Amino acid sequence: MDDKELEFFKNLLNERLKDLISHADETVNEMTIPKDNFADPTDRASHEAERSFELRIRDREHKLIKKVKEALTRIENNTYGICESCGDDISIARLKARPVTTQCIECKTRDEVMEKALGI
Ligand SMILES: [Zn+2]
Repeated sequence: MDDKELEFFKNLLNERLKDLISHADETVNEMTIPKDNFADPTDRASHEAERSFELRIRDREHKLIKKVKEALTRIENNTYGICESCGDDISIARLKARPVTTQCIECKTRDEVMEKALGI
């Protein structure tokens, strides 16, 4: 990967990170608004469901933030775009579709087939 491509992905990942962090903040702010004045138990139940849904989304966001940060570290270390399984270059098209990926399509596909076969 040349410097221009590396720069492109660095910007892309930084933008993604900014979006994720600002969205994560919004979710936290919404959750800190007191909503405990539910007289109706049905309201309370749906509120609980909503809350656990939000927590799951937050959990996913946190994982994604971690992945984006790791990808940015790989850019700094000059290991970005290299498959962690076979050491080959990951195609630019694949990186554009999924900038946080750590595996080339061949390894990813092989792992997925294996996971399915093993029932993981
Ligand atoms: Zn590979």
